[in-house]
Amino acid sequence: MGPQPAVIDAAQAAERARVLTSQLRHHNHRYYVLDDPEVSDAAYDALLDELRAIESEHPRLRTPDSPTQRVGGRPLERFEPVRHLQPMLSLANARSEEELAAWVKRITGLLTKAGVEDAAIDYVVEPKIDGLAISLVYERGVLVRGATRGDGEIGEDVTQNLRTIGAVPLAVEGAPDLLEVRGEVYLPLGAFARLNEQRASAGEPTFANPRNSAAGSIRQLDPGLAASRPLSIWCYGIGAVEGLEFETHSQSLEWLSEHGFKVSPGVERHGEIEEVVPACRAWEERRDGLDFEIDGAVVKVDQLELQRRLGVVGREPRGAIAWKFAARTATTTLRSVMWNVGRTGHMVPFANLEPVIVSGVTVKLATLHNEEDLRRKDVREDDEVIIMRAGDVIPAVISPTAAAQRRRRRSAPPQAPAHCPSCGTETVKPEGSVWTICPNRASCPGQLFQAVKHFVSRGAMDIEGLGEERAGLLLRLGLIANVADIYELRPEALTEIEGFGELSARKLVEAIEASKQRPFNRVLFALGIPGIGFVNARALASRFGGVDALISAAADEVVEQTPGIGPVLAATIVETLAEPRTRDLIERLRGHGLAMEEEGSARGSEGALAGRTFVITGTLPTLSREVATERIEAAGGKVTGSVSGRTGYLVAGEDPGTKLAKARAVGTEVIDEERLLELLAGA
Ligand code: NAD
Repeated sequence: MGPQPAVIDAAQAAERARVLTSQLRHHNHRYYVLDDPEVSDAAYDALLDELRAIESEHPRLRTPDSPTQRVGGRPLERFEPVRHLQPMLSLANARSEEELAAWVKRITGLLTKAGVEDAAIDYVVEPKIDGLAISLVYERGVLVRGATRGDGEIGEDVTQNLRTIGAVPLAVEGAPDLLEVRGEVYLPLGAFARLNEQRASAGEPTFANPRNSAAGSIRQLDPGLAASRPLSIWCYGIGAVEGLEFETHSQSLEWLSEHGFKVSPGVERHGEIEEVVPACRAWEERRDGLDFEIDGAVVKVDQLELQRRLGVVGREPRGAIAWKFAARTATTTLRSVMWNVGRTGHMVPFANLEPVIVSGVTVKLATLHNEEDLRRKDVREDDEVIIMRAGDVIPAVISPTAAAQRRRRRSAPPQAPAHCPSCGTETVKPEGSVWTICPNRASCPGQLFQAVKHFVSRGAMDIEGLGEERAGLLLRLGLIANVADIYELRPEALTEIEGFGELSARKLVEAIEASKQRPFNRVLFALGIPGIGFVNARALASRFGGVDALISAAADEVVEQTPGIGPVLAATIVETLAEPRTRDLIERLRGHGLAMEEEGSARGSEGALAGRTFVITGTLPTLSREVATERIEAAGGKVTGSVSGRTGYLVAGEDPGTKLAKARAVGTEVIDEERLLELLAGA
């Protein structure tokens, strides 16, 4: 149960309800309309619970437009409004076994009263995906409209953006005359991390969480942008339908799955309510292992007839309830902003916090990501801030609370330090850059440590047994001074170190040896060159094939060849590769046998388009050429510049030019973007 208001008289209750309503409306606008919330979900839920409690004491205050009775926010005017065929509702919450039991009691009571004797209710338990609710309308099997939930009655027409999602079928064979599919659009966590990495290295603001990035991608006007983000969808139900009938919710999910929709994973049906709580808890345990965010499990009455009889109260259907997980966000005070030096010399801010418990762990330090992010979020010392801790991810400061922003008078935005916190060198801010850096790249101990830590890490050379602590130790003892020295470590030298036995020394040297097998794109990433994150390393490796071609490339060639790399980034990459220090490192690593060439296309053997060659010509309706290329390659296909007998498909857009004639002459199949998206989806 949420907080119970102290016993207050009607006038006080009305005044408090008015204040809460105005705060909730403000937060709804930030969350649903701007995709940029100011407070944690837990803080928002506490306000909503308080209003609910007041309204149940004073039912007169429960107006039809109260935030307890309405979902979402008003749709943005820049999109065409769409009236939903059936309202898109919210879900009531249960935060404990007792609350779930109370729901069961309520619905069985209601069904008995409605004459449903001895209601043998089946329950379906499924993940509650934390993304953006979407409705997809198919007429005679063709996708005619996709919309956001909006205020539940009227949503926004985002069909063009939804069409760029590979997992959204554009046509459904065997579909009834009318079919409305409901689902949640999300950005997989891996893709979210890479997107933020790319944005940070390009000096762009990062997204606070995957939900905002998915919602923000779908709710903007350029479908090319949505297409460039690897969004996906989990479908969890059917809305309006004509020409087809289902008895149960689980049957409808099966039908969707058989007809090409990506249905929420792990949906289970239970005949006994006793099985439901363990099933919900099981989702909580699996939460950290998933590649998408869930914020609970949803329990639904399986029989659709019973769902209809139970009906809707306010903004919530009675036949379903959300089992909410414990919050992962908390509010605390930011004592001070401290700074570290990153592997490429940039100053990295982190938060020294008033200790606070988040999902069972005390958090004292949290990342503030980077200078730009700090500025964008306008976090200041002494602010009350929202922090988030998810799984084993480093806790992060999400934002100051709105109250903190209003309250503060004097505090100034934190500034990057004038001297490097590691080596004391005066810091500089290169013109046009958002970063303050320590220019002492060759010998700043902080930078060397970060560089080694990055080099040996999982996504890079992945050297088992050489973690952060050992890397720091080896540097301090002078056994290594850069990453190439790692390959010259002898077991005899290691056994001299306290805590290293013969066995662990031998194992470490073996792990170092084994790391020589990593492909070139991992080596390129491991080098820690500014602007070459995980994504760019893969793109550069596949475009240039090897380090020598990359070194001899000019900045504009890098821009031309690699989607996602702009001129500023390309210039930094080319400059860093030209530095004698970088060259020396590359030559030494090459001497130790590390891969400096990308072996044939390793991904060619997997993916929906494995082994197929494409040529793109003309302007495609929604995808840019770069994005289309990237997506084809990600699915294992190859994109070449000219049509030949070996070309599998010519993807032709508007004004296709001579390639179209050539394709017809050699008998290459000509397809449009729509078909390409189908092929990408595996159809
Ligand atoms: P909700 O997210 O609690 O539940 C309803 C939604 O769940 C549906 O619309 C659907 O999109 C989604 N869903 C996911 N998986 C589903 C499944 N398997 N079956 C059915 N639906 C599924 O309700 P809500 O009203 O959209 O939003 C409330 C949430 O938003 C709360 O967590 C609240 O804290 C948060 N919120 C936060 C702020 C803020 O400022 N921080 C503001 C508004 C809302």
